[in-house]
Amino acid sequence: MRFVALLIVSGLIFTVAARAEPTSEADLLRHIEILASDAFEGRKPGTAGENKTVNYIASQWSAAGLQAAGEQGSWYTPVALAERTPESYRIFVIDNNRGNTVRLPQDEIILRGRDASFRQLNMPLVLAGYADGGSGGADVPVAGKLVFLPRNPPEDETGLPDYRDRKLQLIRNGAVGVITIIEDEGLWPRYFRAFQRGATALADPENHAGLEGAISYDQFRKLLRPSGRDAERLLLESGGFAAIALGMTADAVVETSVRDYVSHNVIGKIPGSDPQSGALLFLGHWDHFGICRSEDPDDPERDRICNGAVDNASGISLLIETARRLVADRPERDIYFLATTAEEKGLLGARAFVQAPPVALDNFVAVFNADTVALSDKRKQIAVVGLGETILDGDIEIVAAQEGREIDRSGKADAYLRRQDGYVFLERDIPAYMITSAFADEDRLTAFINGPYHDVSDEVNDSLLLAGAAADADFHVALGRYFGSTATYPGKATSGGADN
Ligand SMILES: [Zn+2]
Repeated sequence: MRFVALLIVSGLIFTVAARAEPTSEADLLRHIEILASDAFEGRKPGTAGENKTVNYIASQWSAAGLQAAGEQGSWYTPVALAERTPESYRIFVIDNNRGNTVRLPQDEIILRGRDASFRQLNMPLVLAGYADGGSGGADVPVAGKLVFLPRNPPEDETGLPDYRDRKLQLIRNGAVGVITIIEDEGLWPRYFRAFQRGATALADPENHAGLEGAISYDQFRKLLRPSGRDAERLLLESGGFAAIALGMTADAVVETSVRDYVSHNVIGKIPGSDPQSGALLFLGHWDHFGICRSEDPDDPERDRICNGAVDNASGISLLIETARRLVADRPERDIYFLATTAEEKGLLGARAFVQAPPVALDNFVAVFNADTVALSDKRKQIAVVGLGETILDGDIEIVAAQEGREIDRSGKADAYLRRQDGYVFLERDIPAYMITSAFADEDRLTAFINGPYHDVSDEVNDSLLLAGAAADADFHVALGRYFGSTATYPGKATSGGADN
């Protein structure tokens, strides 16, 4: 609620908005208690818990005075997801020079298909390097081939395209399958089990190869040995090439359980008085892990729900209160509010948003992600995840100084840069930050990560600390005012000094 005073001066009526009252811990707690209650069943995408969650967020934003900005005038934008779990797979490799066939052992390679049934013979094998997936020069084309793709570049190679981009490029160039080489042998058992459990991805078929998989480094080495090739040397040299032929082909038969389902992002906005001046975006993920423990016949009462009170009912709560406070401002720029789905499955809701944003993506002058905020009772320090990544650092410093907040310069929170929804925007050169007191409170953050994080014990209890979160909500209001106005933030400077 804001107090609005009417002043009548010389016959003119001015509306003077007094400074908003600060966010209260009680308001934040109320939303967290509802979103993290057992009735919401841990907010897993595609469940009854999702329906309750997205309805609650939409109704709160509606009551706050936001306009719906999802698909066809609704609050929601569907996000099509596909969960793929390996069922059975067989793969044989034929050495073309020797004419011998080897069946690769089931525990050294794991495969799943994009579709329920995959069956293909005589796929030529190639090894992709770390270079961009173009196939100019001596690089062999990958279309119609099965590609081995090393996951991690050698340590001395920096600035190479990252794994995700290299893989997508191979798929776009027509690779029939991509098998990731897990070079770190210590990681293989964990990687194998995770793959076995299945994975959820955006159901955009153009971004999936017909066959995906992973192979242990040990097995990859064995595969090359008869041809006299040295895997280690090849991988070290592979910075310079996109793909080389291995002189082998493969036959594979793969059965996969594929579950297609639909989840939703929630989108609302405060319409700006001058939408031409650009837009702002506040976001946070609404999803969590749902009913995450199996039933125990010996302990029928055991807690099975990952409620996600801190992760991320707290961030959504902050966004509801921030929206309430910014609505009365009549900002110049449009201010969008986005609650994403499937962050826990790999930032999928945020990825779906950037693929089909409600306005062109480069209209967004700044993006602020709220995740895991209810961990600190300190109102002064803030961590700015994304510092040093974009042109807005100086502006963030201005807002911090205005609000009497002190930016943590330890750089410790940088470790979370790629693990939060804001990163999806940074990848597309949209300035994005995650600003929170929680990540500046190292002891409390460490205790959370080593304790209740992604566990049934991330629930509403005395360990929720909301003083920092309330101050963070006020800080987000200040960010909304600063970046919502061309008087304080004129917009992107373009090179050459020309206005855009
Ligand atoms: Zn999480």
